[in-house]
Amino acid sequence: MKGKIGLFWLKDDFRFTRNLALSEATKNHSSVVVFYLYKKKKFKNQEAQKWWLSESLKNFRIKLNKHNISLQIISTDSYKFFFDKLLSKNNYSIYWNKTYEPDYIKFDQYLSKKLNEKKVHFKIFKGNVLNEYTEVKKGDGSSFKVFTPFWRVAEKFYSEKIPSKETKVIKCKKKINFFKDTITENKILPKKNWYGKFSNFWYPSEENALKELRSFIKNRIFDYSDSRNFPNILGTSKLSPYIKHGQIHVETIWEECNKIKNSSVSKFLTEIGWREFNHSLINSFPHMIKSNYSKKFDKFPWEKNDKFFKAWKKGLTGYPIVDAGMRELSSTGWMHNRVRMIVGSFLVKHLLINWTEGEKYFRNCLLDYNQANNVSGWQWVAGSGADAAPYFRIFNPILQGEKFDKSGQYVKKWVPELKNVPNKFLHKPWDLNDEKILKIGKVYPMPIVVHEKARVKALQAFKKI
Ligand SMILES: Cc1cc2nc3c(=O)[nH]c(=O)nc-3n(C[C@H](O)[C@H](O)[C@H](O)COP(=O)(O)OP(=O)(O)OC[C@H]3O[C@@H](n4cnc5c(N)ncnc54)[C@H](O)[C@@H]3O)c2cc1C
Repeated sequence: MKGKIGLFWLKDDFRFTRNLALSEATKNHSSVVVFYLYKKKKFKNQEAQKWWLSESLKNFRIKLNKHNISLQIISTDSYKFFFDKLLSKNNYSIYWNKTYEPDYIKFDQYLSKKLNEKKVHFKIFKGNVLNEYTEVKKGDGSSFKVFTPFWRVAEKFYSEKIPSKETKVIKCKKKINFFKDTITENKILPKKNWYGKFSNFWYPSEENALKELRSFIKNRIFDYSDSRNFPNILGTSKLSPYIKHGQIHVETIWEECNKIKNSSVSKFLTEIGWREFNHSLINSFPHMIKSNYSKKFDKFPWEKNDKFFKAWKKGLTGYPIVDAGMRELSSTGWMHNRVRMIVGSFLVKHLLINWTEGEKYFRNCLLDYNQANNVSGWQWVAGSGADAAPYFRIFNPILQGEKFDKSGQYVKKWVPELKNVPNKFLHKPWDLNDEKILKIGKVYPMPIVVHEKARVKALQAFKKI
């Protein structure tokens, strides 16, 4: 039986469009309360996202207020503790959208059982994916391990389904509160104001996500397959933080793009397909979240080198394209995909530092951090993943720079020490030999490792497994 009050458990669903659970709550109840459970411990390693979350909550509250719906934020480090307490009452119904991480899926099972026992009305809806990962399987019922056959099935499966209906959030009659012990969104912000620059680049709201999507479709999507690899031009959608936090649903992106028949548009949708694939991977093979998907990498002779790791994090490796990427990340909370691959490869192959360290650092700094994409992205780079780049294919950071940042615009933007270096030397400034232009080793570091030597060492390490 439905309770008097409708509760919506808000996670990464900061939108009204295609928010199945929120719409259902407002359809069924004249009073709805939206609640967000803030896990302080979890966000200890997700500093950048505290900013996005705080802004998202602020902007979403304004929208909800206009619909007579209150937003309550509760700080708890245990969902179990929170819900066990909530279950002492049953004067409500509860709704939420799925989050596709194994811990959340497991918790959904626990909570469903408890709510059933207490006879509390509840409903769980599909979250921010095109397909449920349980729907896209091989003929024998097992999960895909390779992207291309996965996407062939997934794309067809989604296209043949009736798209979920546009949903509406209905204005409630009366605004009420339900929880005590709440906190404000400002309490979530990181203590140090290192996120200060983020607001120059991002505005976390549903309206802005839609605006960004439309601008991408109007101005850039037709060049996407050519320009997506070049970090010095705005060639990609930059929608990832909005997708992660659910300011936009991937079905909306699909609908808007799929109307256009063009190979560049298909390429873009294939990237959305990689996100689907990664969600399927981490839920089908959850061991890969914390350890190597491919077990043979458990024996890889990783090295621990704090000096190298620090230089990498600070963008002081002496390889301009790597340093530009790491500085873009700390200044904007985002990094171009091509450069993510270059800096990732540099960490695991040139410095022989375990991919798990890179994964953790990205988790802390990325505004778009999501478990599926980050873990899979890192295992792809390391060669330990399901459908990964082979370990022996080692990116040469000089050639990568010369190929993908030929004009040097990207490097000069993020590594201003090199702004006067002629293009010929920009990706290998140590060869310049002109102290008047650049005091190498003083103004900008000498490379912390020599590419050729590091490459040979990495290949020897790989042979051991
Ligand atoms: C080491 C490493 C770590 C990564 N960590 C993350 C992460 O934590 N969160 C994250 O969203 N992406 C991650 N990626 C994937 C990718 O770099 C970003 O999704 C992309 O750069 C986001 O920019 P965009 O929105 O402009 O992408 P676009 O090129 O415009 O693509 C549109 C959307 O498709 C999805 N997408 C694009 N490329 C990929 C990809 N290679 N794998 C999976 N999905 C993709 C994203 O949702 C993206 O927003 C990682 C990649 C690497 C190599």
